[in-house]
Amino acid sequence: MNNIKAKKKFGQNFLKDESVLIKIIQSMPHNNNHIVEIGPGLGDLTKKLVKCKDVTAYEVDRDLYSILQTEFSDELKSNKLKIILGDVLEKWNENSSLYNSRYDLIANLPYYIATNIILNSFNDNNCENIIVMIQKEVADKFTAQCGDKEYSSLSVITQLISKQARTLIVVPPISFDPPPKVDSSVIYIQKDMDKELDFDFNKFLKVCFSQPRKKLSKNLSTAYNKAMINSIFDELNIKESARPHEVDASLYSHIYTKVKQNGRNESYTND
Ligand code: SAM
Repeated sequence: MNNIKAKKKFGQNFLKDESVLIKIIQSMPHNNNHIVEIGPGLGDLTKKLVKCKDVTAYEVDRDLYSILQTEFSDELKSNKLKIILGDVLEKWNENSSLYNSRYDLIANLPYYIATNIILNSFNDNNCENIIVMIQKEVADKFTAQCGDKEYSSLSVITQLISKQARTLIVVPPISFDPPPKVDSSVIYIQKDMDKELDFDFNKFLKVCFSQPRKKLSKNLSTAYNKAMINSIFDELNIKESARPHEVDASLYSHIYTKVKQNGRNESYTND
């Protein structure tokens, strides 16, 4: 493995299973989008990606960055590949997008920041398709349906922002070097480019799922006026006893809109 010792602090688990790499490539949508890869590592996936399309890759580890410079000198010269050294989350803070036109994010992500990366890509207006390997437990939250026990705020956000979200393949630890402690999944999310999420919606969902086993109305009344919540539930025909995982994504969107409207309505004062 190139005599490189994987760095835990950067979430380095290098994917060595050729069949998984091929599955990722075969799942890529046929379009003219650019590709952004986060964490090219030793370049096993990058090698296959640059054969298909032009790629911009973000890598935080200086040692890997130098290896990649040598490994991909031809592709770098011909501008098929651009590698940017640095923390991708900082790059996202500096610019609203990781690339200046439509792109698909294809990557085996560092798990310690995988959720943040996916949420950032939801807010990045140039990102259209997301095919990423992440920890299976987190993947299940992104792809869960209403009623599933994994259904969470991440599932609601994903359903509202996407046309489809599904698991492509579950990958065991043995497919990596070094093997992670947990199973992994490759998920595919196709965003609906006509949709955007309100910045405060995320905060609202945190309240909704703050105590997942309690009633949704109870969670909501910790932050909002109880009479207002009861009235919204009546209007939307939601049972007072409904638990957070029993309410579908579009209803969450309706509740949120009404909470925002009624928040400005003086007939509801805070308790
Ligand atoms: N793509 C390679 C593969 O499939 O074998 C490596 C994947 S490894 C799970 C995660 C990669 O993300 C590592 O190369 C790591 O150095 C890089 N990484 C970790 N944190 C990062 C960050 N904040 N910004 C950019 N890259 C990061």
